[in-house]
Amino acid sequence: MQITKETPLNVISELGKECDQCNNCCKYDTGIVLKEDIPQIAASFKLTIEDFKNKYLVKHDRFNKQCFKFKQIKDSKHTKPFGTKPYGKCIMLDEEKGCTIHSIKPLHCRVCSTKSKFGEKLTQWFALNYLVNTNDPESIRQWAVYLQYNMPIQGGKLEELIPDRVKLKKILGYEILK
Ligand code: SF4
Ligand code: SF4
Repeated sequence: MQITKETPLNVISELGKECDQCNNCCKYDTGIVLKEDIPQIAASFKLTIEDFKNKYLVKHDRFNKQCFKFKQIKDSKHTKPFGTKPYGKCIMLDEEKGCTIHSIKPLHCRVCSTKSKFGEKLTQWFALNYLVNTNDPESIRQWAVYLQYNMPIQGGKLEELIPDRVKLKKILGYEILK
């Protein structure tokens, strides 16, 4: 099966279900939360969107898209006197029960399973459909840096995102800033 930028969400969601729920990813990093993910999760906590953001989220920037991530709980008890570990578990993770919002977790957590044989491709699919903005030159430049280390899925090549070669060259050369 080939994953492309245009693969429908329902197909990607099925592939993202290939997860052992071992929680390893949630112990060291947290999921990206898009604005559209927030209302349902905030409602489940009976919180306003603003109160939910303040209590559970931190601002995050990926491919120049302003979004959020869940807060991390960082352990300092084993690293004293050297300070807090640079990573921590997701605030939504219960180490015994797993993700406490499993049924309503954000799209990123639902589709970006590292267990799936399509792991990195699913991550790219999410980035291309929800983060990378073809109308934002800085977003394209940051995607170009990512592609220095990763082969793009179909639809994710720079020439596919910006078919106008002259414009693409100007974006990458910082001749077009915004
Ligand atoms: S919301 Fe759930 S699945 Fe997503 S990072 Fe947190 S614990 Fe993991
Ligand atoms: S995505 Fe991978 S690391 Fe994370 S819980 Fe599932 S199997 Fe474990």
